[in-house]
Amino acid sequence: MSPTVLPPAATVPAPGPAAAEAATAIVDPAAILARQAARESAARTYARSLPVVPVRASGMTIEGADGRRYLDCLSGAGTLALGHNHPVALQAIRELLDSGAPLHVLDLATPVKDAFTTELFASLPEEFARDARIQFCGPAGTDAVEAALKLVRTATGRSGLLAFTGAYHGMTAGALAAGGDSAARAGLGGSASTPVRLPFPYDYRCPFGLGGPEGARVSARWTESLLADPKGGVDPSAGMIVEPVQGEGGVVPAPDGWLREMRRITSARGIPLIVDEVQTGVGRTGAFWAVQHSGVVPDVMVVSKAVGGSLPLAAVVYRGELDVWEPGAHAGTFRGNQLAMAAGAATLRFVRQERLAERAAGLGERMLARLRALHRLLPAMGDVRGRGLMLGVEIVEPEADADALGARPAAPGLAAAVRQEALRRGLIVELGGRHSSVVRLLPPLTMTDEEAEAVLERLAEALDAASAAHRTVPAARSGVRG
Ligand code: PMP
Repeated sequence: MSPTVLPPAATVPAPGPAAAEAATAIVDPAAILARQAARESAARTYARSLPVVPVRASGMTIEGADGRRYLDCLSGAGTLALGHNHPVALQAIRELLDSGAPLHVLDLATPVKDAFTTELFASLPEEFARDARIQFCGPAGTDAVEAALKLVRTATGRSGLLAFTGAYHGMTAGALAAGGDSAARAGLGGSASTPVRLPFPYDYRCPFGLGGPEGARVSARWTESLLADPKGGVDPSAGMIVEPVQGEGGVVPAPDGWLREMRRITSARGIPLIVDEVQTGVGRTGAFWAVQHSGVVPDVMVVSKAVGGSLPLAAVVYRGELDVWEPGAHAGTFRGNQLAMAAGAATLRFVRQERLAERAAGLGERMLARLRALHRLLPAMGDVRGRGLMLGVEIVEPEADADALGARPAAPGLAAAVRQEALRRGLIVELGGRHSSVVRLLPPLTMTDEEAEAVLERLAEALDAASAAHRTVPAARSGVRG
């Protein structure tokens, strides 16, 4: 590392209060942010664009150390189905803490795990749950993706993998290989074997220049013909991994008919279909599991984020016939997080009992309609899309020429300005998508109508303000053809 990377000693801020005192101490947000910038990795992400120092949170509101309150539409990257500190999750955590039950037990059986598994299985599509097995994994979504890939490779004896353009499955080596971001794989050297990359239907920037049902039909046709072609160059496939709605890829929902085609094509060839529900699960898209919109029954499902009720938990669930693993074939120290299982079971139960998936569907539809109305007025909004409470606005160069399908170049600079203007108005949103130009909304399923209204108002103002500034400072334009 070059010595110039380190800040000069004089600018390194003094150490902060000890961790135990930090929560209650009167904090100086600027000093904390400066210490973070000096000490934490250059790879830090959200902290760069959201210079907020959260000290309290409830529902979808975060309070910063500066006393400002923010509506949180990031929700821990889609983790907080019930928002921050929901009483149902907190009660489950407190009860377990007070009960004297062990908090860490590797993969031993406990009543807490038993209850979690029962609740999770009850939420799954019935045909899938009937003969399902579960492997608890290390606590992150990427760990469960890794386990899923290993499982299908073991069960089929094949090594090839089918994955999609725009996909995101995590940051460990196998998951990165399955993702669409080749730049993110750079640090792995040659160790990541690249899967066969198939076209995910993306209406706004259809790879076939078609869009709509025709674009999806051609995408399925390409997949089928490639797999049928004896000289297509495709090694025998251990599995196909797909997100029912691409999240990090820019909130791109897979059309139901297309997903059914993927099921038909994989079934016909004995290729296990792995559905990555890490971000889409637990009511987020308006069904308990997003795959239920299409009626597709997968062979493997990867779950994490919301299933832990705001604490780290991840698992891979799969058809019994794939369960050919030897004892110890997949292990890990942190596979028995009892607090996460207790909070997760309570969260799953609450989402089911309160029909929060239906609420997400209705509220999401109303928000989408409002965003579409705005879309007609604001040329910086290239596309508005989503499913349930997983919504995205693709930000484009307002004055650039549109392509034959009506899409204009992505505008990452303008998208970053929208995020910034939103933050100034007390709204936390993140960006995703091909050129980080899609504003993503992942509010909790418990968001009230009034909160939804405030989100839309603040976002509309932010879009307006960023667009106005963009018009007056043409040098700031940074359009990228998608
Ligand atoms: N799969 C999907 C679809 C995701 O959205 C994510 C995280 N955004 C992951 C996997 C990886 O999860 P984690 O960050 O917990 O490793």
